[in-house]
Amino acid sequence: MDALPLHFRLDGRSCLVVGGGETAFRKAELLAGCNADVTVVAPAIDADFDDLKARLVRRKFTESDLDGQVLVVAATDDMSVNARVSELCHARALPVNVVDQPALCSVTFPAIVDRSPVLISVGSGGASPVLTRLLRERLESLIGEGYARLGGYMGRTRERLKAAVPDIGRRRRLTEDFLRSPGAEQILGGAAEPDDAWFEAGVQTTGEVYLVGAGPGDPDLLTLRALQLMQQADVVLYDSLVSDAVLARTRRDARRRFVGKRKAEHSIRQEDLNQLMVDMARAGDRVLRLKGGDPFIFGRGGEELEALADAKVPFQVVPGITAAGGCASYAGIPLTHRDHAQSVQFVTGHPKTGEVHLDWSKFAQPGQTIVFYMGLGGLPRICENLMAHGRSAATPAALVEKGTLEDQRVIEATLGTLVGEVARHTVTRPTLVIVGDVVALHGKLRWR
Ligand code: SAH
Repeated sequence: MDALPLHFRLDGRSCLVVGGGETAFRKAELLAGCNADVTVVAPAIDADFDDLKARLVRRKFTESDLDGQVLVVAATDDMSVNARVSELCHARALPVNVVDQPALCSVTFPAIVDRSPVLISVGSGGASPVLTRLLRERLESLIGEGYARLGGYMGRTRERLKAAVPDIGRRRRLTEDFLRSPGAEQILGGAAEPDDAWFEAGVQTTGEVYLVGAGPGDPDLLTLRALQLMQQADVVLYDSLVSDAVLARTRRDARRRFVGKRKAEHSIRQEDLNQLMVDMARAGDRVLRLKGGDPFIFGRGGEELEALADAKVPFQVVPGITAAGGCASYAGIPLTHRDHAQSVQFVTGHPKTGEVHLDWSKFAQPGQTIVFYMGLGGLPRICENLMAHGRSAATPAALVEKGTLEDQRVIEATLGTLVGEVARHTVTRPTLVIVGDVVALHGKLRWR
């Protein structure tokens, strides 16, 4: 982070605005709105300022104007004055903002969504005020006025809740449950207080397991439900296919533990992992079991849930975008197409050998797309077998490397040439192999 966003209490504190024009007015208005004790200094001050609760000093800025201030804004149209104010403030370690000159600022004004007591500030460190304003507009529509009411209610009842539920962990969980409950919805919808007495409601003591699909890598492909659960879990158990960018979106203070399989690394056995989830949930944790792609597609999600069901641990499942869907979309390869493929099959090879234990003759017919997961090791055998069982050597085939990630690469060839093409590159896992006429559309439909 280039800067730390802080929400600065200004009531009764002295703030100085240097400048008397329109931009200075907007800043002075904002500071006065925070009940700051505002002084405006400039030889000429617009008439607009007359209605503002501020002290207007019509003369040039002098250094002593800085005495006793906690925040200074320079908004004159004279660059040398702005630079001098900035320099003097830096020398005094006094926070200073120079309008439109990020290099001279120690603090910048964010775009604000005001749902007091809830405040959302969006900043770009001066990189693009237009972008931050655009984001603010989006947030304005997403976070309704009801959040002000809800924030106010939570603030008013905080002490009462503390007394009723002294344990901090339980209190947090109860509050989270409440905020997702119909009671909170009532306040968002206009009520001042919820009907139900949620303080007294039973506090959940057993945890829960969330089996969540993290998608193929690009964090923007996470579902909203996945994000919600990622934000409330106490523990995160993740696999090697979960990208760093996705992991970064889990709750900041959650405990994270890698439980995947990496070559040459001691990895946890499946039974031990199942037991670990059961134990953690029984101890009251909300456990996020985060898996690459979709948990029910070649992800052992079913096995893990069976263990939880046997132990009577509650769970939820959130689907994710499976690698085939993600890679196909980001490579511009439609998996079905009325002219080229009427069916699609997802097939997995053995994780080490890539060997496929299937009836190859099923794949012989044209008009079907076949997607091979974990197929890199067995690629030569996959191509040979398909051709030996009747698929033409000219059938388009592609290998998608690191699908949906920034460095995604698509190696496009045919069944006859794919092995040779792949050998010419240094390929990094994860990779997916797509075979079928639809692959030929990649040239026309690729978009990234
Ligand atoms: N549950 C996952 C699949 C797990 S099996 C899902 O639904 O996607 C692991 C295999 O998925 C990898 O060997 C690879 O073939 C494929 N895979 C996962 N992520 C991928 C990605 N970003 N790009 C290419 N292949 C990927």
